[in-house]
Amino acid sequence: MAGDAVARLSRARRRRAGHAGSGSAGSGSAGTGSAGTGGEGTGSAGSGSAGSGSAGSASAGTGSAGTGGEGTGSAGTGSAGSGSAGSGSAGAGSAGTGSAGTGGAGAGSAGTGGAGAGSAGAGSAGTGSEGTGRAGSGNTGSGDADPARDMAARTAAETLLERLRAATSDGVGITRESYGAGESLALEMVEAEARAHGLATGRDAGANLVVTLAGRDAGLPCLACGSHLDSVAQGGNYDGAAGVVAGLSALCRLHDEGFVPARPIRLYALRGEESAWFGRAYIGSAALFGKLTADDLALSNVASGRALLHCMRDAGVAVDRVVQGEPLLDAKSVAAWLELLIEQGPVLVARKLPLAVVTGIRGNFRHRSIECVGEAGHSGTIPRWLRHDTVFATAELITRLDRHWQTLLERGHDLVMTVGIIGTDPAEQALARIPGRVRFSFEARSQSMETLEACYDLFRSECAGIAEERGVRFVFDRRLDSAPARMDASWIARLRALLREMGLPDEPIASGAGHDASVFSNAGIPSAMIFVRNEHGSHNPREAMAMDDFMLGTELLCRALRDGSAA
Ligand SMILES: [Zn+2]
Repeated sequence: MAGDAVARLSRARRRRAGHAGSGSAGSGSAGTGSAGTGGEGTGSAGSGSAGSGSAGSASAGTGSAGTGGEGTGSAGTGSAGSGSAGSGSAGAGSAGTGSAGTGGAGAGSAGTGGAGAGSAGAGSAGTGSEGTGRAGSGNTGSGDADPARDMAARTAAETLLERLRAATSDGVGITRESYGAGESLALEMVEAEARAHGLATGRDAGANLVVTLAGRDAGLPCLACGSHLDSVAQGGNYDGAAGVVAGLSALCRLHDEGFVPARPIRLYALRGEESAWFGRAYIGSAALFGKLTADDLALSNVASGRALLHCMRDAGVAVDRVVQGEPLLDAKSVAAWLELLIEQGPVLVARKLPLAVVTGIRGNFRHRSIECVGEAGHSGTIPRWLRHDTVFATAELITRLDRHWQTLLERGHDLVMTVGIIGTDPAEQALARIPGRVRFSFEARSQSMETLEACYDLFRSECAGIAEERGVRFVFDRRLDSAPARMDASWIARLRALLREMGLPDEPIASGAGHDASVFSNAGIPSAMIFVRNEHGSHNPREAMAMDDFMLGTELLCRALRDGSAA
């Protein structure tokens, strides 16, 4: 059984390999993007994306990606830059060809012409032939700075973040309970700030805060950005809130500039993202798309024991519609979802990158509580062959899972697994007592649904095997799932081009943690994410995001909103 699952995964991987990238033409004047071809084997073609030209007579060039031949060759990315207001014109970027072997072609990106008559040159990458050849990148920068405006925006954002921290401090970190008082207070504070800046605000049927910058055509699908305002208990101030404050800062700036987008731009401050309170993540966004089940709504709050349904009703959610599984937000009314978040892992700090564009989000399956039931007994009188020791059984289960994990990693699968909670009941256990019961949690995450399913099969078959061998049984609570999510290829290309336009290094990364963006993406809304460098992880008070990095993230988000809503 276990071997079968591994073999099945191995076949699936060969089938999936060798996919062609996507090409997307930018908005504004005609730019051509052409994606390459992925040959057999594990070759993968890169993406070619043409830049966008906003107001003025901007024109974008051509981006073309190369071809990934047989073997592990991979073609790079060719992207043309964008020309913003004025008569800026971007050149052509073209990536080379990665042929057989491990050759990878580099990225060619053309720069930006900022306000005025700036024009950017052409960047073209060479060819990565056999071996490990890698071509470099060429790009030119942009000019668009206003130090006084930037300083005022920075002070406003910093002040709001500090006020949020002070208002929801619990003495150790900050606590903003999902559908609870701290979360509601945070929404009110952000709303007051948006109103003071002349922006229109309101609450949707999910009781989320929505801040709107009106567009020329209110009937067009909006460009949405945002994140969540709840937190774990004794958590950090930036997880979620940084994205909301960055979105507000971006909207304020566009408002101040007198920018009128073609379509509305909306900032969402979402509720109920953290799984810490009800054992289920992304409750707020799931409710928006009618994805909460009766079982979900019956989940009880870890602190108060109150049912999710009641907590949502108290916060102002239209629970009658949620119970019916009725979407509170029409996915077709949202053109795209952009989410800025602090990175919750260590990659950006280790790589010395202030920002990164996210390629995809790992999904997961979880059991909050699995019970291994055996037989308690005197530790001195019962020989090994007559024991049904649940601690030894569970320890063996974890060891076997760890071995499967290693094997799957060696075969190139994306997977992490964790037993975060484990224990006997201290009230009944003793030093000299064979433990008759152990409770533990189990979670696995991957970017691939197939890997998750195979991992789950392995997990259940190992439980069955150990149960038989050791005379114990495993009792499972409800399996909770969250699907992996792909981020939108053309938005990834646009964000990466804007990142390079800002003169910043561009190394996209996968997200190990889940986010509301996965729910938006799985609802069919093109979604993309920006990570901001952050030290010490998250879900703890030691989160550390530098305001310099935050402002760069805000700048990128602002450019993306301007660029993506111009037409
Ligand atoms: Zn979180």
